[in-house]
Order: sequence, then structure tokens, then C-alpha cells
Amino acid sequence: MKKLFLIIGAPGSGKTTDAELIEKRNPDLIKHYSTGDLLRAEVASGSELGKKIKQYIDNGKLVPLEIVINTIKNAIEKADKPVVIIDGFPRSVEQMKALDEMLKENKNIELVEVIEVDVSEKVARERVLGRARGADDNVEVFNNRMKIYLKPLPEIEKFYSTQNKLVKINGERSIEEIVDDMEKEIKSKI
Ligand code: AMP
Repeated sequence: MKKLFLIIGAPGSGKTTDAELIEKRNPDLIKHYSTGDLLRAEVASGSELGKKIKQYIDNGKLVPLEIVINTIKNAIEKADKPVVIIDGFPRSVEQMKALDEMLKENKNIELVEVIEVDVSEKVARERVLGRARGADDNVEVFNNRMKIYLKPLPEIEKFYSTQNKLVKINGERSIEEIVDDMEKEIKSKI
């Protein structure tokens, strides 16, 4: 049985960095995947699928459901550790529902918790525009991504808090503090 933790957060919330550090601290226990990184890896491969994905990423739009679900499914299957952390998923109500269906069909995966890294829009904007990772790190695309992040958030929060699976973590602290908190949270649930 694999135990699954999801990390959601605005662009610039630090969710991928946090999860990477937790994986590094627990290499035998935890495997981490960033949905954005998995999609960017497909783009980098130069495949036809990657070319399609690139158009969405460059505009800050959500990559279509079927592609994202396949990406997530493959990652969970590939993970060779008992605890799997995926960040950047779900980002829409339809993704959340598709995952729910997948979990009902697959009894080898248990969704333990959804951790939301909470930062204000102001902090998120400063971080994203400061890092300029790629074509999607400019003001216009940031605003679009923020809007797309916030729209389904209340429904996603409600869905998981009703199941007692939602945990919010203050992302406006030092990485050390955030990672300590997140790691403690995850370890208390496995
Ligand atoms: P991130 O690295 O998490 O900031 O994601 C970068 C980009 O990858 C997003 O702006 C989307 O275009 C795409 N992406 C990442 N996660 C998802 C997801 N769960 N669903 C759809 N598109 C995604």
C-alpha cells in the first residue's frame, strides 16, 4: 500500500522546493514528484505530446485533464518508495474528481492528506517574478496562473476538509520552518 500526500499552493508558494527537501531528508521512505516538473520533462523530451503540453505551460493554462491524470498515474506506479508526495495536483475540480475515481478503483494507494501551502498573492508574485524560471514567469502569465489557481480552491478545500484530509501550512516563513512543519505533519500520519 502506497501512502499518497498531495501538496497544493499558488505559483511561488514554494511547494516543489519544500517537497524536494523532504524527499532528500527521507530518501528510503519518500518519493516526490512535481506535476509541473513532470510536464516540463515531457516538453524537454521533444515528443509530440511535449509540444502540445508546452503551449499550455507557456500561457499559464492548465494542461488537459487526460494528460495530467496519465502523468500522475505513471508517477505513482513508478514510485518505488512507500510514501509518495505529489505537488501541483489537483489544480481543478475535475482533476480532484478523477483522482477520487482512481483511488476508488485502486486499493493499493491511500490518499492520506492534502497539504496547502498558504501564501498571500503579494508574496507569490514577488517570488515568481524574482525567480524567472522560464517563459511562464512574467506578470501577465503569473496573473493568469493565480486566477486559475484560486478559482477552484474553495471547492477543493471543502472536498478534502470534509474528509478531514486538508492541512494548511503557513508558507510565509523560512524554508527550514516550513519544511520542518511539513515533514512533521507527514511523519505523524504514516
Ligand atoms: P508549476 O511548476 O507547478 O508552477 O506548474 C507549471 C505549469 O505546468 C502550470 O502553469 C500548468 O501549465 C502546468 N501544470 C502543472 N500542474 C498542473 C496540473 N495539475 N494540471 C494542469 N496543468 C498543470
